[in-house]
Parts: sequence; C-alpha cells; structure tokens
Amino acid sequence: MRILERLEQLYAIGGGPGANRPHPGPGEDEAFELAAGWMSDAGLEVEVDRHGNLLGRSSEHPEVWVGSHLDTVPQGGKFDGALGVVAGIEAAELAGAGTVVAFRGEEVGCVGSHALVASGDPLPAVFLELHVEQGPVLADRDAPLGVVTGIVGYARGELVFRGRAGHAGTTPMEGREDALVGAAGAILAIRDAAAGLDGAVATVGQVAVEPGGVNVIPGSVRISVDARAPDAETLDRLVAAIGVDPAQRTEPVAMGARVRGALSEELAALGLSAVELPSGAGHDAGILAATGVESGMLFVRSLNGGVSHSPDELSSDEDVALAVEVLTATLRRLSARRT
Ligand SMILES: [Zn+2]
Repeated sequence: MRILERLEQLYAIGGGPGANRPHPGPGEDEAFELAAGWMSDAGLEVEVDRHGNLLGRSSEHPEVWVGSHLDTVPQGGKFDGALGVVAGIEAAELAGAGTVVAFRGEEVGCVGSHALVASGDPLPAVFLELHVEQGPVLADRDAPLGVVTGIVGYARGELVFRGRAGHAGTTPMEGREDALVGAAGAILAIRDAAAGLDGAVATVGQVAVEPGGVNVIPGSVRISVDARAPDAETLDRLVAAIGVDPAQRTEPVAMGARVRGALSEELAALGLSAVELPSGAGHDAGILAATGVESGMLFVRSLNGGVSHSPDELSSDEDVALAVEVLTATLRRLSARRT
C-alpha cells in the first residue's frame, strides 16, 4: 500500500531512533517537501500559506479540508500526525475533492492551526482529521475505528499543604503536623474524585517537599494537578471536588454533529460499529472546532495499548486501509452535501 511506504519515508527522516521531525526544524521541513511532492502527484494545487502550513487543493470543494500535522516529538512514532496527512492525500485523490492540509508545529501547541485561526485568513467550511488513538479504548472494544465526540478540556493548578517541620527522631508521632501526610490524603481523594465522574481523569505529576531532608518532618508540600473532562460541566465539578484554583484552563470542544454523523454512517456502511469516544489529547481539529469550523475526527485503533509519542506506536495495515476507505467516503459525502 502506497500510504504505508510514505509513512516509512517520513519515519526515516532524521535517521532515528524513532521519528524526528520536531517543530521548527529541518526534519519537519523535509517532511513538508515530501508531502508537497505527493500532493502535486495527486493532481492537487500546492500552496504554502503565510503561517507555513501546507495546502493541496483540488478544484472540487476546496473548502472541505482533510489533514493533520507532520511534526513529531523527538523520537516519536510512525503514525501520530503523519497518518492523517498521507491518508488525506489519498482520500482527496480518490474522492477528487477537498483540500489536504499539513499544519505546522502541532506537538508544540498547535502552532500552525492557531496562527491560521488568529490571522483572519479564510477558514475551511469543514475540517476532517484522521489520527491514531492515543489510548486503549478501541482495542478494548474490539473496534478498528472510532468517531471522536470531542476534545477534553483541562484545568491545571497547584495545591499547597502546610505543616510544621521538625526533627524526625525526637518529635513523637502524636501531635505531628506532617504536610506530606496531608498531601497524600489529598492525592488519593483527587484520584477518587476523577474516578467518580464519567470520562474525567486527574493526575498529580509533581510533588515538591520542603525542607526535603530524610530526617526532617515535611513542613510544606506543593503538588501539581492536571484535571481533564469531556464537557465543561464535568470539568467544573471535578475542579470543585479537587478544590484547586486553576492557573490554566482550556475548555472542552465538541466535534461537529454533521461530520460525526457522516463518519458514523460510513462506518455503518462497512458493517463496523460506530464506537464514539472523546479525545484526551489536543489536536488541530480542536483548534478549528473552537472557532466554529464544523470539524470531526476519526481514530484508528492502537495495537499497543495506546502508546504514542514513542517508536512503539503501532496500528495494523488492515486498520489503516479501513481508515482510508472511511475517510475517503466521508470526504465524498461531505463534499456532495455542499453542492
Ligand atoms: Zn498528533
């Protein structure tokens, strides 16, 4: 399959180990040049916009966009981002419609899609993104493909626990004010708060203990909190249950009903169950959807428990072929609806 060869070509850039196309950098640039060649071979009119994003337009319904990103984290995997672009080129050629886009710098904060949205330049009417699932849901449900309902929102902040530092040997257990023991209880409560809300997750990834001596009772502890949920109401409830005052918050974004519906219909047409799931990671489709562009995402099953941002990313050739089929049919359907 041509698209598998192209994924290999992109993966080989930088010489390994893993995919090495961080933004900005020569690896990402080389990938953009390769993709530009493939777009032009597909009969698309190639253009680089003033934000550095690569576009390949067909003459039919260029306002319907399909694509993803070509940059990776250092030592990334074969599928994250690249799959959405090479499959998009395939779909646009087969459907004879649409515009393929490769956005710049998704892994470092959706640089290209943010710049496009902020610039006031014309936006697509519809955006469709195929991406590898970065979790285990589809594999658990025995489904090769899934339709994304929305992109989770997140809130991040810190909690500080104060106690009284003291000598670890001479202070009796009774009457101690150990800040880390307080924090430990809170960390368990954070886990339980997230577990009790549908689709919510919460993580404590950093713990800083003061004064930090092996023989000193902790006097103060600072923990980080990363809380995520698929809708704003659940995120509010999670943040309230944790009791954190978020320093940073990004709202959840729902995918467009029309694109979700079109993807589900095409899955059904192939006799596949239309498993729906939220995305726990951010994507260019979320940036476009947040500004009102009708957007949708199709996920391909990970065969490795959802490992991504790693050379261990794995999806089967069969699942990738199915994904291209559904992407093409959906692009056709969304274009036809616009005539
Ligand atoms: Zn990605």
